[in-house]
Amino acid sequence: MAQYERYIRPKVAFFDFTSCEGCQLTVLDSLQTSPELLDMIEIVEFREAMSERSNEYQIAFVEGSCTRPADEERLKTIRSTASLVIALGACAHLGGINAIKNLRPLPEVRADVYGDKADWYDTYAARPISAVIDIDGFIPGCPIDRDEFIRVVKMLLQGRQPIIPDHPLCIECKLKENVCLYLRGKICLGPIVRAGCGAICPTYGDGCEGCRGLITNPNLDSMKMVLEEHGLSFEEVEQKLSMFMAYQTAGIKSEAEGATS
Ligand code: SF4
Ligand code: SF4
Ligand code: SF4
Repeated sequence: MAQYERYIRPKVAFFDFTSCEGCQLTVLDSLQTSPELLDMIEIVEFREAMSERSNEYQIAFVEGSCTRPADEERLKTIRSTASLVIALGACAHLGGINAIKNLRPLPEVRADVYGDKADWYDTYAARPISAVIDIDGFIPGCPIDRDEFIRVVKMLLQGRQPIIPDHPLCIECKLKENVCLYLRGKICLGPIVRAGCGAICPTYGDGCEGCRGLITNPNLDSMKMVLEEHGLSFEEVEQKLSMFMAYQTAGIKSEAEGATS
């Protein structure tokens, strides 16, 4: 993994696994507003936009979670073909909303979705693609940010590791001079979630639900202090965490329990 090198018009493929395909639509949108990218890369597979397929590509963008055994083989084939594999969006990066089902017993979920035909389908617990293969980077968000996608592609072409913000959303939110939602009686994951979206949810009055994932070293002590200051406990953020990070929730919960108050 991580063979960062300068690329001259590399072959690029887009793949989808379990997802709503909204991140691929955002890529299409990016290509319409930044058509110069089409001169810099050669797209050889992209089901949303073309019918051609290819077994030869240097950069693979993978959207969606791994949710069935056949996905593992396909992911491994992509990994062995591409020099760089980039997870595209929260489903691929975190497991995302697909992993909400992991919070309930799988047979129950399968029965709810497929009824008496559950045996026809071999779905299992949803996972981020990094649980199956090594990845070289990710573009976070649900959906991804159009401008961030373009920045990442340009960095990859220059042979650079993509730089994704790794500081808390609160910094962006404060720079926007928003009134903190905790002062309005709402819950927000901003102290521990990765910035880069322009703090869009708090700006419009909704608490962050963490679609960009946690920062590398989330300060859970600080998060707990904020909660306690407002008469809240960590349990009350668990529901928000489970929207996009159900796959990670158990680990976060046990870290929070270990954090000093
Ligand atoms: S991250 Fe969100 S927008 Fe992207 S594919 Fe998953 S559900 Fe859709
Ligand atoms: S907790 Fe949420 S609303 Fe408050 S400053 Fe941080 S991001 Fe903004
Ligand atoms: S504020 Fe939080 S939930 Fe909203 S887009 Fe940003 S990271 Fe995602």
